[in-house]
Amino acid sequence: MSNIITSPVLSCSACGSEGYTIQANVTDPDGEIPGEWNFRKCSNRSCELVWLDPAPLQSELWKAYATYHTHTHASSNLAVRLILSFTNRLARMVFFPIWASNGLWRETNYLRYMMLKNMPAGKLLDVGCGGGRFMNRMKRLGWEVEGIDFDEKATSKIARRYGMKTYTGDLAACALPESSYDAITMSHTIEHLFDPKTTLKECLRLLKPGGKLVVVTPNAESAGAELFGACWRGWEPPRHLRVYSVKSLTNLLRAAGFSLHEVRTSSAGAAVIYRVSAANQKKITGSVSFVFRLGLVFWSYWKELSEFRAQQTGRRTGQNLLACAAKPLNQTS
Ligand SMILES: [Zn+2]
Repeated sequence: MSNIITSPVLSCSACGSEGYTIQANVTDPDGEIPGEWNFRKCSNRSCELVWLDPAPLQSELWKAYATYHTHTHASSNLAVRLILSFTNRLARMVFFPIWASNGLWRETNYLRYMMLKNMPAGKLLDVGCGGGRFMNRMKRLGWEVEGIDFDEKATSKIARRYGMKTYTGDLAACALPESSYDAITMSHTIEHLFDPKTTLKECLRLLKPGGKLVVVTPNAESAGAELFGACWRGWEPPRHLRVYSVKSLTNLLRAAGFSLHEVRTSSAGAAVIYRVSAANQKKITGSVSFVFRLGLVFWSYWKELSEFRAQQTGRRTGQNLLACAAKPLNQTS
């Protein structure tokens, strides 16, 4: 992998204000891309966008993904993987009664279907569709599903495996017909985009009036980000070009022309981020032992649970941001 050519990004792409460094010397958690990266936060209190500085030039971004879908597991030892998988299942069984009684299980399902499970089936576009598992889940609910991704390997695999229509490359360049989708989903996609506002405006054009846009992305103000600092998995430089908060994601969606139904944080699925972040932190001071990783499994589910409980008291520190917006009914294109 050749080095990525970068350029400093000192001011905010949303409002033009200067930013200050909130996180320095962050490294690629997958260990694929060399270098240390910083994140800046906009000094405008009504904006507070967080962005990568320096950031890859647009023409260099492909280099950050050259091994994205092919990187190997932390351990290639089959026995270790099986024991960890068993421990994970055991932990989930232990925690399940609590999840079922306090609402975390319902929240997890809500996210698995990107908040669309109770909506009448229609035509759906998944932007940044990756491996297509979510698309297939929605197809089983009766939706007509299409997906788009920059990764040609991913899109051709989905088309082959699930028989669903896919597109490769930039959304706007696909020139899909306007007002043709009932819903558009973006799960862990928006933080990767070079020009998110343009992509969101294209989503607005593609949605039918009243059609829904659902966005899930890491929360820069999450409890995990605060606990782990530079080791938090959600930074993921240099692939995450911006990391949002409730405020900055709300601003972005409004600027693109959406009417907002809901923007909040969610702790569903936070355990995996706690596990990876803790392992990243441990690697700095030594190796990550097998026993440590076993303990992490239970610890991570306990952290997810305590984070979820904190959200019930009005905190906005959940691992992920979750936004549900709609194309205004009076807008035809
Ligand atoms: Zn700003």
